[in-house]
Amino acid sequence: MTCNTNKRDTDDTDFRNVLDSYNDREANCIFCELSASRIIAENELCIAIKDAFLVTEHHTLVIPKQHVADYFDLHQPERNAIKAMLHDQRGKILEEDPTVTGFNADASAGQTVFHIHVHLIPRREGDVVDPRGGVRGVIPSKQKY
Ligand code: AMP
Ligand code: ZN
Repeated sequence: MTCNTNKRDTDDTDFRNVLDSYNDREANCIFCELSASRIIAENELCIAIKDAFLVTEHHTLVIPKQHVADYFDLHQPERNAIKAMLHDQRGKILEEDPTVTGFNADASAGQTVFHIHVHLIPRREGDVVDPRGGVRGVIPSKQKY
């Protein structure tokens, strides 16, 4: 059997740096400095809070504990934690409120708080006149197709 020495099954990731980054916090960041009473759920790597200015009833934000601006700079375990939290919160909202018929779950581009967060926004039948093309509305002129 030949052995190709160019191929490696390891990489150079320093996992101590990854673990350290989970603890990164920033002074004066509203999501790093949330008081415990605002937190409605928590797992190892993220939290959930109610949005202070609800788009719809039960609008929830899922926020990694690490202070990082861009979703794509999160490590996979943080993405997994966010996904698990989104599922938990979705389940709780559906249990609590039978009028909810769907959700938008999205991290915003053009964000105003530069600590990444995923909006979980419950939707209800008839909440907008014509829901077709919903996510396309990020560029209003492209919404209808
Ligand atoms: P964006 O960065 O565009 O995704 O929007 C930030 C979101 O954070 C908005 O929906 C705000 O209503 C919400 N928000 C801003 N300040 C607070 C706060 N102190 N607690 C909870 N939600 C907040
Ligand atoms: Zn922060």
